[in-house]
This record gives sequence, structure tokens and C-alpha cells, in this order.
Amino acid sequence: MQYAERESLILAPYAMHAADSAGRRTPEAEHPYRSPYQRDRDRITHSSAYRRLSHKTQVFTGELGDYHRSRLTHTLEVASVARTIARTLSLNEDLVEALALAHDVGHPPFGHAGEEMLNERLADEGGFNHNRQAIRIFERLEHRYADREGLNLTVEVLDGQRDRGAKPARTEQQLQPTRVGVTESPLLEVQVVDAADSIAYDAHDADDALELGLLTLDDLNAAALWSDTVASVRERYAAVGEADLRRATIRELIDRQVSDLIVQTRSAIAEHGVDETEAVARAPRLATHSAEIAAQKLELEAFLFRRVYRHDEVLKHREEAKRALGAAFDRCLVEPERLPPPLPQIAVEESPRRAVADHVSSLTDRAVLETWRRRQDW
Ligand code: MG
Repeated sequence: MQYAERESLILAPYAMHAADSAGRRTPEAEHPYRSPYQRDRDRITHSSAYRRLSHKTQVFTGELGDYHRSRLTHTLEVASVARTIARTLSLNEDLVEALALAHDVGHPPFGHAGEEMLNERLADEGGFNHNRQAIRIFERLEHRYADREGLNLTVEVLDGQRDRGAKPARTEQQLQPTRVGVTESPLLEVQVVDAADSIAYDAHDADDALELGLLTLDDLNAAALWSDTVASVRERYAAVGEADLRRATIRELIDRQVSDLIVQTRSAIAEHGVDETEAVARAPRLATHSAEIAAQKLELEAFLFRRVYRHDEVLKHREEAKRALGAAFDRCLVEPERLPPPLPQIAVEESPRRAVADHVSSLTDRAVLETWRRRQDW
């Protein structure tokens, strides 16, 4: 087990060491040189649900151009930010990377518009939530092995994703930042990925909205996180043009949040005397921002919510997306027995609606739109 020795040398005592993993539902022999979390990361990147993220909406559909983030490039930004934080705090980078690459795999096409539509269609059956859908994909829907269902991921990756499912959705978070029904804090690796997700989208949603002309640089000055960052960029580059200012500000916006999170997390770990992995669960959430940056992030997110996610141009595309996805759902519900395996079985064991949601949520934006516009069979 070379990985155990390597990790014992480089990881902090409060990190999740792969040698201490609770294992997999179906036990497997050790790999000769990859750690369990490296194997999980590889299983995720080789899954079809992961590949389909390249043609799924983050905030803006592919119809608006090709500059802005897709669900896949968002995921890669999250992994990149999360790995930087993890390495600096001596956490398990392999686990962080697996969690980051996995975190949005359950997203349906068309982002939150798609999720809302599916949630309405499943209102009487527990609803639809992309974080919980990822667990269904990992445990049942992906078919990779002849002798077992799902990807057979480690308990830590599955539990980390379950923790995401226990929180209110992002849009609701604007109004209700408290967590529901969770008593123990998740692993620091899970907390870091959560923070990295928010750091990445606060920066890239602003960048994408500027590129699409939904906002101007001046508009964004209404949010202190943005205007403070611009001020610090201007201190360094006195006569900077608008395009360079924007790029430097986005860069600095990420750096500012990451640095704040690292300082704050280090001091929280010390303050709560967290000196072993188990102590993380007993402590309050440790990977948090300073009060100032946390408040500024909420302000920026509320601003983006009002001015970008609710922008007429964005809403127009959301409506068409919802109609197309609704049509796909209704068409599939007529003949769920024609869905690919294992969905006909899920239609019998759980419900036809759940099986149809499993299917249409797996489709890419363009697959749904092309089929809808040609009125073809699903
Ligand atoms: Mg995300």
C-alpha cells in the first residue's frame, strides 16, 4: 500500500486518509498502486453522466454562445480551486478531486430550470434534486461492471455527496442559509469542495454575465466584493483597459476568496483543537469565510440572482428549455418500458415517473432541444 505511506507523510492528522476508508458496498481487492479515492476519481471521469456535463447548462444555455461555462468547465474550475485549498491545508487531494468532479453529475439539462421542471413533475413522489440524483447515478444508474450495479464508490465519496443533498438548493440559499437536519459536520474535504463550488460560481457567473452583455463592470460595483477587488487591481495596474481590468478582477476575485477561506479554516482548526479526522465531525463547520467576505459573497450572489439569473434574456431561454424538457418527460411517460435498461425495471420497482426522470435528467441540453424541435421520438 504505497499510498498509505505517502499520505501518512504529507496529509494533516485531520485529513481523511485513504487507508482509513470505510470501504465500498461490494468489497474489492486493493489496486496495486492507486488509492481508493484515485480509483473513485477515475470511475467518475469515465462515467457517461460525467461526460454529458460538457453539453449541459451551468447558468446560460449553449444557445447564447460558446464563451461561458458549461456544467463541465464549471466542474473543472471547482476541482482546480478545491485542490489548491486542499493542498495548502494538507487535506486529501484525491478525495477532494473525486468529490469535486462528482458534485454536479446529477444535474439535469438546462440547469435549475430543468431541475424545477422535474421537481414539479415528481411533486407527489419526493421531488427531484440534482444532489440526490448523483447518488442514484453512482449507486444504480451507471452500468460499468458485469456483476454489480453502479460505480461502487467509497463510503466517503457517497457520504460527501449525500451531505450536499441535505442542504437547500442554491437559489433557496439566498433566503435561507441554514442547513436542515444535519447534526455532524462532514469531512473537511467535503467542506472544501462545497466552498470551492461557491468561490468558482461567484467569479465565473459575473464573468459570463459581463461577456454576454447582461451586466457592465459599473453595474457590478454595487457589490462590495466586486468593487473592493477592482480597487485592489487598480492599485497594481494604474492604467488598465476594460478587458484587462475584467480579467484581472475575476482572477483576483477567486484569489481573494480562496486566501480568505484558507486563513479562516486554519484558524478554526486551531481554535477548535481539531487534531484528528474524527474531531472534524464534532466541530462546527471549519471551512468557512471570514464574516466580512461571507457577507460580501451573499451580497454579490443576491445581486447576480436579481440581475443575471432573473434577466429577461435568461428567462426566455429557460421557458423554452422547460417546455422541451416537459415534452420529453410526458412523451417518455407514455411508454416507460421503452426506456434503456435498467429504467423499465425502475418503473416497476419505484415508479414510472422516477424512471422517466432518471432518463430525461441524463440527457444533454442539445439532445433535448434537437429532438424537441424535430418532434422526433425520444
Ligand atoms: Mg456546482
